[in-house]
Amino acid sequence: MSPASRTPVLAANWKMHKTSAEAEAFLADFLGRVGDPRDREVVICPSFLALKPVVDLCLQSPVRVAAQNMHDEPEGAFTGEVSAPMLAEIGVDGVILGHSERREHFCESDEALARKLPAALDAGLEPILCVGERESERDSGETEAVLRRQVEADLAGVDDAGLSELVIAYEPVWAIGTGRTATPDQAEEAIGFIRSLVEARSAEAAERVRILYGGSVKPANAAELLGRGEIDGALVGGASLDPADFAEIVAAAS
Ligand code: PEP
Repeated sequence: MSPASRTPVLAANWKMHKTSAEAEAFLADFLGRVGDPRDREVVICPSFLALKPVVDLCLQSPVRVAAQNMHDEPEGAFTGEVSAPMLAEIGVDGVILGHSERREHFCESDEALARKLPAALDAGLEPILCVGERESERDSGETEAVLRRQVEADLAGVDDAGLSELVIAYEPVWAIGTGRTATPDQAEEAIGFIRSLVEARSAEAAERVRILYGGSVKPANAAELLGRGEIDGALVGGASLDPADFAEIVAAAS
């Protein structure tokens, strides 16, 4: 499978933004702009409470919906948590796992991610696993060591079939929400390294797995990044909150 035959993914991480009413207003504008991009996978990741309204509004469209987190157990005494079967039941298609904000502010560990990834796949959800180094780690030449540690640990519980079904997002922490974007060369280099880590497990999965770039992607830099063969799409935070900007980023992936 060549890079050109991997369907690009454009995912909008809304973080803790947009009420259900605001999500509905976004879609009323965005769905008309984005049209029917059959050669691209467009994913909206709203807050838990806006998931169901967004699923319902996207039913007649090609746009898919993902959550931003989940618990690894299907049910139990875990106050405040939401499980993969609960997400699947309401029509959610996927889930972001291991975002650096969850690793940083909510103590998300590689051990927990190793349990969450197979749980998501078992429930039929497409995981978007986020990995990436901090600025100090890049400065001290540890980028590859960090990526290796995260990818190997987080995917330890996923079998080879599951490996090719998931999406990985390379998100250097220093580029998230900062306005500083990795250069296309930096992004391609890191993504190539991540693909080599998957290849060490399964050559077939390495060919199929989509690996995105995330970190201050905007309409102004999307075409340059998404034009690179190794970059299979983008996970977009800030710029995905505006329907015109996100539609422009989706168009840049064509
Ligand atoms: C993100 O939240 O995953 C992200 C990449 O954010 P931003 O695009 O705002 O840097």
